[in-house]
Formats: sequence, C-alpha cells, structure tokens
Amino acid sequence: MTIKAWQGPSTIDGKDIMAVVSCEKQASRNGKTGDMVQVAFFSTAERPVVAAHKTGDDESVCGSCPLRPKVWTKEVSKKPCYVGVHWMAAQWAAAMRLGEDLGAAVGAMGAKPVRFGQYGNMSSVLRAVAERLLEGASKWTLYEHEWMKPENQWLRHFAMASVHSEHQAITAQRMGWRTFRNREEGEPLLDTECQCPYETRGVQCKDCLLCDGKRKGPKKDKRKSVAVYTHGG
Ligand code: SF4
Repeated sequence: MTIKAWQGPSTIDGKDIMAVVSCEKQASRNGKTGDMVQVAFFSTAERPVVAAHKTGDDESVCGSCPLRPKVWTKEVSKKPCYVGVHWMAAQWAAAMRLGEDLGAAVGAMGAKPVRFGQYGNMSSVLRAVAERLLEGASKWTLYEHEWMKPENQWLRHFAMASVHSEHQAITAQRMGWRTFRNREEGEPLLDTECQCPYETRGVQCKDCLLCDGKRKGPKKDKRKSVAVYTHGG
C-alpha cells in the first residue's frame, strides 16, 4: 500500500517534493532491514532514476549528500549512492496519482518499525510534517545528511548524522549527534563507534534499531555511533 503523506516545497531548494509511505501486507524481503514500513522523500519533477542520474532534481530531497550520482567522486567513496532508484519508479508513479493523506500515513506506521529516509532526507519536508511522521512511529531508523544546518539540530534526537570521514564524525558528535559513518576495510573504528551489527552478526535493522538518533531525557544516551563498511551508501 502506498500513501502520499504530504506534497509541497522542499526546505532545501523550494521545489515540489512529496513524502511517501509504503506499507506492504506481506513481509518485506529486504535482507538487511527486515520487514519495516518505508518512508521516502521524492522530487515530483521526474522519476527518481531520471532525477538522480540526468536532471539532478534529487537535490530537492538529497541536498548536499556527496553520494548523489551527479556530484559523486571516487575521493568520497568507491561507489555513488547505493539506493536502487530504478526500483522506485512504480512507488513514485503510484504516489503521483494520489492525493495527500497525512493522517492515513501516520496511522500506517503503528504496526511495524519504520525506515524513514528509504530515499531522501527527512529535513527536506517542513518540520511540522516531519514531527507528525515521527510521532506515528514507536520504533524507527533515520539518517540525515543535512546535519550541519542550524535549523536541523532538533533532528539529532531522531536521526543519525550521515558522515563520510572521521573528521565529519567527530564534528557531528561534538554537535550532539550520534553518527553513521561509511569506512573502508582496515580503517579503524573511533572509540565512540561500533560496527553495524548486521555486518558482524546478521542482526536486521528492524530488530537492532541502533540508528534512531540520540535519545532525549534525563538519562544520557550512552549508545555508540555506528560505522559500516563502504558499500556506496
Ligand atoms: S546499526 Fe542496526 S539499525 Fe543501523 S544499519 Fe546496522 S543493523 Fe540497521
């Protein structure tokens, strides 16, 4: 089931984007994440594959991510963004035909853990919309590339700062984020990091849920940040 949660101007570049929730009745066969509700942010200008590889309209939702196919270089990682934009054509087309229903989208998130940012940044939608979506989920994972912007600091309690170097990880951690870092084989872990349990023990995201930001509250969140081996994402 595909639900268009919201459509409106991107906070990144003002162009039209949409937030799309996908919740299948049958269990997802994604081996890494396991069965999760998926939330993606798309440019409405073009199909995701065209936006990412031809027009660059993915900037409206991906922002400054250096793995965008139009800007990626080998200095950043071995491969560009690994997200399978080819496979999102049907999801994008279905959502383009729908009207907005934020209430239904929020309601669809109660049954399973939620993978926010299946594609795109949560910060690309209005904060009020992002907050409604987050309220609907009791368990989630979320990654944010626009972690350095002052207006996105509130998201550190819900999202991992997506970083691509030790320097970026240390900077984001000093700003109060937990981080999610791509590292090459042989590159050491920081003291503040652990290796993704999927890579060490085959634990799926739906059961692990380490990537849900830095918890607020009286108790300090002592969980480590996460590193993964570079797979292009
Ligand atoms: S640390 Fe856990 S939640 Fe994060 S990517 Fe790895 S398995 Fe998924």
